[in-house]
Amino acid sequence: MKSLQQELDRRRAEHLYRRRRVLGSPQGPLLQVDGVELLSFCSNDYLGLANHPEVIAAMQHGASKYGAGSGSAHLVSGHSTAHHALEEELAAFTGRSRALLYSTGYMANQGVITALLGRGDTIYQDRLNHASLIDGGLLSRAHLKRYAHNDMAALASQLDNHSGGEALVAVDGVFSMDGDLAPLPELATLCAGRDAWLLVDDAHGLGVLGSDGRGSVDHFGLGQTDVPVLMGTLGKAFGTFGAFVAGSEELIETLIQQSRSYIYTTALPPPVAEATRASLRLVQKESWRREQLQQLIRQFRAGAEQLGLLLMDSETAIQPLLAGSAERAISWSRALEEEGLLVTAIRPPTVPEGSARLRVTLSASHTAEQVDRLLDALGRLDQGNSK
Ligand SMILES: *Cc1c(COP(=O)(O)O)cnc(C)c1O
Repeated sequence: MKSLQQELDRRRAEHLYRRRRVLGSPQGPLLQVDGVELLSFCSNDYLGLANHPEVIAAMQHGASKYGAGSGSAHLVSGHSTAHHALEEELAAFTGRSRALLYSTGYMANQGVITALLGRGDTIYQDRLNHASLIDGGLLSRAHLKRYAHNDMAALASQLDNHSGGEALVAVDGVFSMDGDLAPLPELATLCAGRDAWLLVDDAHGLGVLGSDGRGSVDHFGLGQTDVPVLMGTLGKAFGTFGAFVAGSEELIETLIQQSRSYIYTTALPPPVAEATRASLRLVQKESWRREQLQQLIRQFRAGAEQLGLLLMDSETAIQPLLAGSAERAISWSRALEEEGLLVTAIRPPTVPEGSARLRVTLSASHTAEQVDRLLDALGRLDQGNSK
């Protein structure tokens, strides 16, 4: 047996050791972290719905009506009217024929890829795709082809060399650690011309981009024929938990029959589905949340530019600051924490070697003053001789 301790020590020495912070408060700009109040810029609660009174009330009401747990898988006796209504509402919201709930986004990606692909097929993945897309591809046993980030010429030439079997191209709609968008119109054209599936994981676009928050696919004016497989998560801008896949009638029926991470797991607690129905209404109704977020993004980028910080090419709520080494990312994160700010360092293997960063995220629940406080603190960071 290998020594686990040796491996742990190596991680620590390489500044890659991960540790959890213990929260004593709801999500929001101000968090109780290990007993200390910190101003947080690293949550995915982009619209500030995780602690919204209407969402909480819907969850409480859902618990009174349906109880705490679903009791079984969807195909046994766990599929409640709460789940069913949420699926219909998500299908209408995304402009898809149908939607299917999964317990997590990780499972949704795994479940849809393994249902569509097997041995002899090929999955094409952007280098910066989320781990759940990569892992879903590996589990499916399809050949894996990765292409350089957003490099459509590279993808086109890989697709031109496709040899037999199904082809599926998977991308993040908004890249989770970089905040930039996938070129969906070009991807849709490439895939349509070569009879390839296109799967868009819109974990960070839904709720934030597009009309009424319909996401990155809507942002580009694309529909179900352009993007036949749409995956969305509910634990980010929606502020609750869970995920869904949306698409054609045949796609959803296929998933119900064959998707193992859908079939062999307990359905979401119904109160979570009820809470998500409330947050879906708020996502559509309270467009001021998206406007406030956009305002804060502009403020942050303008301020960071003035400070000469190395921003990445992102117009979304994800505004990473490249540190380079894991060591520098950690030291920046520590320095910010000493000033009462929480921005966690993102290190390999979550991001490529040499591109460790602070993943700053903004939320509609932040104020302009709070963003100024962040900018002030960032301005005092030791930039060293950064690239
Ligand atoms: C968070 C995330 C997931 C996983 O969703 P969970 O519901 O948290 O399991 C999948 N894809 C992307 C791009 C994500 O950011």
